[in-house]
Amino acid sequence: MNTPKLFIPGPTEVLPEVLAEMSHPMVTHRNKTASELQRRISNNLRRVLLTKNEILLSTSSGTGFMEGAVRSTTAKRAAIFSVGAFGKKWYKIAQGNGVPSDIFESELGQPTTPEMVDAALATGKYDTICVTHNETSTGIQNPVEEIAELLKSKYPEVVWCVDAVSSAAGSKIETDKLGIDCLVTSTQKALALPPGMAVCAISQKAYERTATVKNRGCYFDLRDIYDVIQKKDYQYTNTPCVSIMFAMDKQLQHILQEGVEHRFERHEKMAEYVRNWAREYFAIFPNEKYLSKTLTVVTNTRNLNIGDLNKALIERGMLIGNGYGDLKDKTFRIAHMGELTLDDCRAVTESILDICGIK
Ligand SMILES: *Cc1c(COP(=O)(O)O)cnc(C)c1O
Repeated sequence: MNTPKLFIPGPTEVLPEVLAEMSHPMVTHRNKTASELQRRISNNLRRVLLTKNEILLSTSSGTGFMEGAVRSTTAKRAAIFSVGAFGKKWYKIAQGNGVPSDIFESELGQPTTPEMVDAALATGKYDTICVTHNETSTGIQNPVEEIAELLKSKYPEVVWCVDAVSSAAGSKIETDKLGIDCLVTSTQKALALPPGMAVCAISQKAYERTATVKNRGCYFDLRDIYDVIQKKDYQYTNTPCVSIMFAMDKQLQHILQEGVEHRFERHEKMAEYVRNWAREYFAIFPNEKYLSKTLTVVTNTRNLNIGDLNKALIERGMLIGNGYGDLKDKTFRIAHMGELTLDDCRAVTESILDICGIK
C-alpha cells in the first residue's frame, strides 16, 4: 500500500527504524528489564520536555491525560481557557467528569491573554487553570511565557495544566522555567510516534494537590500512577502498550541524537518557510503575533476545493489537513512537525501551487 507523506497535524511520519520496533516480540511488563526500559523513557522524556518533574505514561491518546490532569488536580473549580476546538474539549472533559469549571473563550484566531487569566483568577474562585499551548484548529501558540509571569507573581498556589499535545518535542517549551504543573502531550504528533500513549510531566505541587481531591477516577488518576511507578520502579498501574514503549525508547534516542535544540530550530525554520509561503500566495488565519511553530493554518483566499486539492496531492504522495470544524474549507492546515524537513515543506507547498496553477 502506498501511503502519502503526512502533512496533517497527527498522526505524523514515523521513522522506519522506529516503526520496526513495534514488531518487537512481547515481553512482560513486570520485571527488571521493563523497569529499566520505562525508567530510561522517563529520563529521556525529561530532557525533551525540559523538566525535572516526574513523567507519567498512559496507554491512551493525549485526551486521557487531559482528563487525568483536570480531574485529579481540581479541588475547588477549574478555569478553562479556550482558543478553539481543543480548549472546548477540555471544558467538555471537565463537565463530563463532574469537575466544577467555567470556560473563557477567545475569538477564533486569537490567543488566551494574561489579562484574561488575571481577570478570572482575581475572583478567587479557581484553584486550577487549563490552557492550550498550541491550538491545532486555529494555528495559535498561546503566550505561555506571559501567563507564567502572571501566575508566578500573583497566583503561585494555582495548579497550571497545559495541553501541549501538538507542540511538545517540536516547539521549545521550558516546562520547569514556566512552572507548568501538568504538561500533557501524546505520541502521534511532534514526538513522531504511532498514536497510543499519553505523556504527563507532573510537578510536586500538582502531586500534592491530588491528595485533596476526592474523586480522581481510576484509570487516569495521576496520584495513583505516580505512587505506583515510585513503588514499582517505573512499572505501571496497568498493562501499558509495550510495543509503543519499544518504539518510544528508539525515537527518544533519535531525538537526543538530533539534539533537542536542533529539533526546535528545525521546527522554527519549517514554520518560517511555510508562513512566508502562506503570506505570499494566501493569508495566515490566526493573529500573526501568536503563531504556532508546528502547523500553519492558511486562509483559503482562493476558494480552492480542499478535498480535490488533497486528491491531487495524494497522487503525488502527500496529504495536508483541511480546516477543523467550522473552519473546514475556509482554511487548510499544513503541519510541519515531527520528522518532516524543510525540503518536505518545499515539496508540499510547490505541489499545491502547481496543482492549482498558481504562479
Ligand atoms: C490532537 C490534539 C488533542 C487530542 O489528542 P489525542 O492524542 O488525539 O487524544 C488535544 N489537544 C490538541 C491541541 C491536539 O492537537
